Amino acid sequence: MLIVSDDRAVVEADLAAGRVSCPRCRAGVLGGWGCSRLRVVRTESGVRRLRPRRGRCRERSCRATHVLLPDVCLARRRYVVGVIGAALLTAGREGYRRAGERLGLPGETVRDWRRRLRSRSELVSAHFLRWMWALDASADLPAGQGSPVADAVEAIGVCTRVASLWLGRRSPWSWASALTAGGLLEINTSTPWPVPE
Ligand SMILES: [Zn+2]
Repeated sequence: MLIVSDDRAVVEADLAAGRVSCPRCRAGVLGGWGCSRLRVVRTESGVRRLRPRRGRCRERSCRATHVLLPDVCLARRRYVVGVIGAALLTAGREGYRRAGERLGLPGETVRDWRRRLRSRSELVSAHFLRWMWALDASADLPAGQGSPVADAVEAIGVCTRVASLWLGRRSPWSWASALTAGGLLEINTSTPWPVPE
């Protein structure tokens, strides 16, 4: 799994130019390799169908194939990351039922996302702060927000602002997806989160 731009033309250009590194061997670059299965994701405004591009490592000894998931998605989630992020922002501020009602989401779904984040909130905070300092060593440690989940959301917020500044503009939650290889809410992820070089 690799998180890429939501703009298919950008993805095609990057593949053609050999700009997409293989996350498995890291030495090779990916070439286009057909498309992955159809996904139906819920967005703020309705339903979106997408067939993510697939890439295959050009390195002879590797040849791994990877799904190139647009950065508006998270792995194995049926809502786009912007919707999930909006729900996570309500943690500690609003009950899950109420938040779900306001956002047009099933309350249980909001509760599940919060639980997933809570179960690894310290890891999430550490991961995003590590990225933040790798990109900007002078960045300040964000103020404590009073709970591990709120701290994690804050760490995501400050880190993704720095990432947009130094690595290119992307919505905060798209950066959150990119910096976790789509696995922000995966508890047992088979795809390790990318680490700064
Ligand atoms: Zn490879």
